[in-house]
Amino acid sequence: MKTSVIRKSDAKIWRAKLTAPFRTAKGQHDLLENVLFSIELSDGVRGYGEAAVATHITGETVPETLRNLKEAARAMPGRSLTGFPEIAEAFREKFGKNKCALAALEMALLDAAARVKKMPLWRVFGSRLRTLRTDMTVVLGSVPEAEAAVQDILRRGIRSFKVKIGRDFDLDLKRVVAITTIAKRFPIYLDANQGFTAVQTLKFLKELTKLKIQPALIEQPVPKGDWDGLKKVTREGGVLVCADESAGSLEDAKRIILEKAAGAINIKFTKTGLLEAYEIAHLAKRHGIKLMIGTMMETPLAVTAAAHLAAGLGGFDFIDLDAPFFMAEAVTRGHFVTRSGVYDLGKVKAGIGVTPLYTPGVCIVGHTRCVQGASKT
Ligand SMILES: [Mg+2]
Repeated sequence: MKTSVIRKSDAKIWRAKLTAPFRTAKGQHDLLENVLFSIELSDGVRGYGEAAVATHITGETVPETLRNLKEAARAMPGRSLTGFPEIAEAFREKFGKNKCALAALEMALLDAAARVKKMPLWRVFGSRLRTLRTDMTVVLGSVPEAEAAVQDILRRGIRSFKVKIGRDFDLDLKRVVAITTIAKRFPIYLDANQGFTAVQTLKFLKELTKLKIQPALIEQPVPKGDWDGLKKVTREGGVLVCADESAGSLEDAKRIILEKAAGAINIKFTKTGLLEAYEIAHLAKRHGIKLMIGTMMETPLAVTAAAHLAAGLGGFDFIDLDAPFFMAEAVTRGHFVTRSGVYDLGKVKAGIGVTPLYTPGVCIVGHTRCVQGASKT
């Protein structure tokens, strides 16, 4: 098919200012710094993908990701989109552990393929469209900062909260109490980003129980290699445990299921690429594991791509697609999430429906204030 031949391809660093530093137990984002990958077909149809680099979790770096995607861009011209599975497989091998590069490549190819077919990306994953309602994150900080954040979130109309914990036990406890005092009745998801031990986590949950606070789940309480700790919290915590950093591959997901290490998995394209994320989600659903859809610090391009998976495949109990709310500047065109966190992809005509804006100050290669190794997670 003539239109499915790739004519050109490119990779470049993509930066955007954030509304405020995004603080987690493992690092801080002052600026979004990702890699944008694009392809253009012979008939002018384009596809876009985004690689979000999370150095402290995966070991990937921006220079390595850019280098890999530039190499892929050089290899793209002349290839046919119908060879998508083979292309993805070849670059999976080539990129090795640089999974966010694979995610960007697969995203761009699928975006273009769906555009050629004139169908929205969610149809690639399922036959029925679901509306998604995202939570919003309260990042690490002081108690007054947490209170102000919750009030802002409630004013938006968002009714579920992800609360970052894991750096300071006593302060985190005070923050959770302050947040639940304001946001009574609404679910909160705690995310320790590997910051606690199993014993600390169990103590933290016990303190909350004493205060009659019941989180809907606790995400990645312990370091990703601490499987015994993860299982202990799952067995003894009395709260749903969601594996994020521990669920970095299909193999990890199989182990989680086999060893009953967690009751939920946070699915992110950046950790595995799109195809493997889809496989993990399918496998987890079959085994009664609950699903969260999440992203790193990503622009509306990659976040909307993730929304397509959750909206098309279904079965996602927890939606954590709030990264666009932390962008201080518009870096994309096409908008499918409301201020109150509702993703409705019914208006997407083809592909992801979101494209990068090439304006001065958006795609800049040069000075960065991004703290190395930080990510949303
Ligand atoms: Mg997380």
